[in-house]
Amino acid sequence: MITLKTATHIALAMCFSACATQYQISPPDNYLATKARLDNLAAPILKEWQNKCGETIGELKPVSPKCDHEITLNDDNIINAYASGEEIIITKGMMLSVDDLTLSLIIAHELAHNVLEHINLDHTETRELDADRWAMYMLKFIGLDYETAGLQTASFRIPQNNEYPEESDVKTDVKKQVSKEELVLRETRRANHFIAVIKDIKAEK
Ligand SMILES: [Zn+2]
Repeated sequence: MITLKTATHIALAMCFSACATQYQISPPDNYLATKARLDNLAAPILKEWQNKCGETIGELKPVSPKCDHEITLNDDNIINAYASGEEIIITKGMMLSVDDLTLSLIIAHELAHNVLEHINLDHTETRELDADRWAMYMLKFIGLDYETAGLQTASFRIPQNNEYPEESDVKTDVKKQVSKEELVLRETRRANHFIAVIKDIKAEK
């Protein structure tokens, strides 16, 4: 007796030679390819923190005792990145919007929010600047071009039309509490902060 499963196997085996045109190979899964890219970019950053866990980075003392952090790809087309305390979550929309170097800085920035335990606290400007500073040092430690990453990010963070940059992980309710003029000033200060951090890192050599 041939079970349905066996019959299917026989039919498929026959088809490999006889009816190839009826069976099409699916295109590569875009999600898996994007996840592989994300994993490759995150691996050296997560490993560096495992090695340095507990150390003060760029004069910022870690608060969380956690050394291992997960990286997750959110299959959403909106441009966003955020941290949960244990995880770093990057959307597919973000992955498709920025280059590898910028993504590395974003991953390190979100890791900083976990390490410095910013989760569940207000998204203050100081916490954002601290996360940027921590991230820039981490890029330097793993041998990435932190200067280009910082300057690139600084240049696209300056608001072009009074809008808060879309890639910001600052919660929407916080954005609504301040005026557009204040948001522009904040982003300009943040861009200048990147330049200041680059100087600090270079001065340490
Ligand atoms: Zn942030």
